[in-house]
Amino acid sequence: ASDKEKVNSVAKIKVVVRKRPLNKKELAKNEEDIIETLSNSLVVHETKLKVDLTEYVEKHEFVFDAVLNEEVSNDEVYRETVEPIVPIIFQRTKATCFAYGQTGSGKTYTMKPLPLKASRDILRLMHHTYRNQGFQLFVSFFEIYGGKLFDLLSDRKKLCMREDGKQQVCIVGLQEYRVSDVETIKELIEKGNATRSTGTTGANEESSRSHAILQLAIKRSVDGNESKPPRVVGKLSFIDLAGSERGADTTDNDKQTRMEGAEINKSLLALKECIRALDNDQGHIPFRGSKLTEVLRDSFMGNSRTVMISCISPSSGSCEHTLNTLRYADRVK
Ligand code: ADP
Ligand code: MG
Repeated sequence: ASDKEKVNSVAKIKVVVRKRPLNKKELAKNEEDIIETLSNSLVVHETKLKVDLTEYVEKHEFVFDAVLNEEVSNDEVYRETVEPIVPIIFQRTKATCFAYGQTGSGKTYTMKPLPLKASRDILRLMHHTYRNQGFQLFVSFFEIYGGKLFDLLSDRKKLCMREDGKQQVCIVGLQEYRVSDVETIKELIEKGNATRSTGTTGANEESSRSHAILQLAIKRSVDGNESKPPRVVGKLSFIDLAGSERGADTTDNDKQTRMEGAEINKSLLALKECIRALDNDQGHIPFRGSKLTEVLRDSFMGNSRTVMISCISPSSGSCEHTLNTLRYADRVK
């Protein structure tokens, strides 16, 4: 197949659901697994009460591009989601993989291994298929917290965003590391993840309020001229989104929490609108809705690919959040 055919063979938007196993806490509370999965659909069994207080079960069916059950490994998740888009970022494509879901649903568990697996494949392509063609790989890692940007590879240094008039987004001061081996990439990813979770109130509490963005950029020197700064050819972004339930923290007693909740709500809504606009090939994409979508602007322009991994808990206690997550995923497609 030609390069163009290769790019065209990858769907513009892919929506995948990943169900995690019941955890100890849920088992201890005798919570039940209410999610029945098939290869690309699932049924949520919601227990409801009639007016006379007898129980009945309402079934909600959803269809997606793929449904990954609790037995699916991280390797299989990679194969289903990111592996097919790796080769096309050498063909001027920008691709983004999101993990969406409530806190504790498995977003970080799902996202963490993906950039490393992708870099391994990217380096392999660079060293074999595209040998001596001047491609270079760069890594950066930052987070959006309360609408502000912080560098996760540079002690949470505060960053700001600028647009260069050519619709390219520039994050001023963001550390970008050129990498040529898997070991270095691994260290950088671990460093960023450690920086992310050193909040004041414990790992999941803090990270549930921020979006973490890891970007792999493929660049190439213009006309093989090494003295000029290399230009971006393609980009692959991995986004571990804030806990979707945090967007509902808009009535909390604490003003800080309320403001953060409003920002998260705004960014998740804006994200949904941007992805939907992509699918419709609309000229206008509503980036301006939030910091998250502004930062991702160039990844939504031109030749872009989006993979949304919606993470869900199987437990009866999470039924409402799970339905919200599945409805969001449904609307994206
Ligand atoms: P989130 O980032 O959405 O808040 P985490 O990724 O931190 O959630 O997952 C919550 C807990 O559940 C973690 O202890 C994680 O190891 C575990 N977990 C999540 N998904 C899976 C899975 N598919 N298989 C086994 N354990 C999982
Ligand atoms: Mg997390």
